[in-house]
Amino acid sequence: MPELNVNGVPLRVGNIFCIGRNYAAHAAELGNALEAEPLVFLKPTSALLGEGEPITLPAYSQDVHHEVELVVMIGKGGADIAEADALDHVAGYGIGLDLTARDVQAEAKRKGLPWVKAKGFRGAACMSAVVDASQVPNPQALHFSLTVNGEVRQQGDSAMMLFPVATIISTLSRLYGLSEGDLIYTGTPEGVSALKSADTLVLSLDGLVTASWRVA
Ligand code: MG
Repeated sequence: MPELNVNGVPLRVGNIFCIGRNYAAHAAELGNALEAEPLVFLKPTSALLGEGEPITLPAYSQDVHHEVELVVMIGKGGADIAEADALDHVAGYGIGLDLTARDVQAEAKRKGLPWVKAKGFRGAACMSAVVDASQVPNPQALHFSLTVNGEVRQQGDSAMMLFPVATIISTLSRLYGLSEGDLIYTGTPEGVSALKSADTLVLSLDGLVTASWRVA
């Protein structure tokens, strides 16, 4: 099982939860309606890709999109966590990519099928180093960005989330339970677009951590 270091302590990654349509401008750019509760999907742990590993685009897609996202790592698990207590359950924060085979996702949506093939391929969950939660007093006040080949493609502000981190944690704990080592990809702002071979991606989380990947 893959591990991530938090303050030098390795934490085994558990579930990889992802939230869709959590920024209004991104939902609009894909023509999606907004949801009344967080839209949750999952990636397998085998999708996790640490920094420095090449991104391999799946052969069955011609349209793999980058989605830069604030990622929450759970330190203390629980069920039915109250929103007021939710941030106490966070081990740390990172910046990651919810890579998405958009053509495959579009076909799955048309057919009413799950998104796993579009969202769960190997390397589809890129994740930076984890910043200890003590360095992030307010996760709703974080700016983050993605450049591709030096050009800014996405800029996010976590204040614009439709469902804030505490609400997401409370909801996931109520519906599925949360465990130490679970990751939560919190949704992407607008500006998603296709990747191509040899692209270099640089992600930055508010001066706290950066990470980069190259597309094979
Ligand atoms: Mg996403």
